[in-house]
Amino acid sequence: MLRFKIRLLILLVLLSSICLTQIQVGNPDSIGEEQKIVQTRQMMGTWAEITVYSQDAKLANRAIESALDAMIEVDSLMSAYKQNSEISDINRQTGQKAVSVSPKTFFIVKSAIHYSEISDGAFDITISPLIHSWGFFRKQGHIPPKEEINQKRALVNYRLIELDSKHNRIKLLKNGMTLDLGGIAKGYAVDQAIEKLQAAKVENVLVNLSGNMYAMGHPRDKDAWRIAIRHPRQKESLLGVLELQEESIATSGDYEKFFIHDGKKYSHIINPHTGYPVLGIASVTIVAKTAMEADALSTAVFVLGPEKGLQLIESKDGVEGIIVKVDKKEELSFVMSEGFSKRFTLY
Ligand code: ADP
Ligand code: MG
Repeated sequence: MLRFKIRLLILLVLLSSICLTQIQVGNPDSIGEEQKIVQTRQMMGTWAEITVYSQDAKLANRAIESALDAMIEVDSLMSAYKQNSEISDINRQTGQKAVSVSPKTFFIVKSAIHYSEISDGAFDITISPLIHSWGFFRKQGHIPPKEEINQKRALVNYRLIELDSKHNRIKLLKNGMTLDLGGIAKGYAVDQAIEKLQAAKVENVLVNLSGNMYAMGHPRDKDAWRIAIRHPRQKESLLGVLELQEESIATSGDYEKFFIHDGKKYSHIINPHTGYPVLGIASVTIVAKTAMEADALSTAVFVLGPEKGLQLIESKDGVEGIIVKVDKKEELSFVMSEGFSKRFTLY
């Protein structure tokens, strides 16, 4: 375990000069010379961006479109903000009835329960009632009364999600329970995009959904995709950089969705055991073999904190990470897993 003092903050930013809102479709008819092709699309309250290096721009553009469609499909099935999503269906039937869902929704809920189990419940998609109470669902952050927190806490328990694998049915056993896949769905959407791109034989690609990234192959004239991690307190600064190959990276931070009360910062990741937002962590970045794993584990480790969080990272094959802590004086320090420290170049 390594420890360094640092002065700045995180998010993920791509070094290879890709601009998030830019749409650059390469010459659609040219085959032969390798081109950089970038498409972006708005989804899940943010932007998705897919960058491909290919000699066949037409094929690449088509593959990117089907990948973006697959990501949108994930959102339509799993958004708690969309009334006609399968997750909203499950939430409406809380405590009453099992709901039949698509194999994709079933898979992600089952996977989410797995991440709850390996994190001692630090990751829990039944956190939703508390997310509402704290006002993070509609960006109206405030501190709820203690009784309300305790009441809602009784509704947070992943063990009360009943899965019927035979019929792909999901039921919330206690009335008032609801699901929120905000800590895992973006990663899953990136994996779905990668599946489409692989099926279309696209080889050199980077998928980025708001910092949940998966890198395959490499950009032109480089061996691998170089990914920079943004400093969690200084927007324009970078913490460092690392290379990704057939891997994913995700960051959970306290600097995008939060509110400040009496000088204290309350951010959108909530400890299911206490009912309160996690304090003392500025960001967690995880590298993993799938984007879903990186996404879920970044949230789980954020809740677990430096010691238990690092233990969880070290216990999993193909998983590495860095945890940036912040003290009351806003001083930052960090810990990294061994594998992460070997490949990370600190700025
Ligand atoms: P984002 O990239 O959207 O900020 P993160 O991966 O950091 O997301 O996850 C944060 C989101 O996960 C929250 O906005 C909320 O929807 C959900 N969440 C908050 N606390 C937990 C938790 N303990 N377990 C699972 N999901 C959580
Ligand atoms: Mg997450």
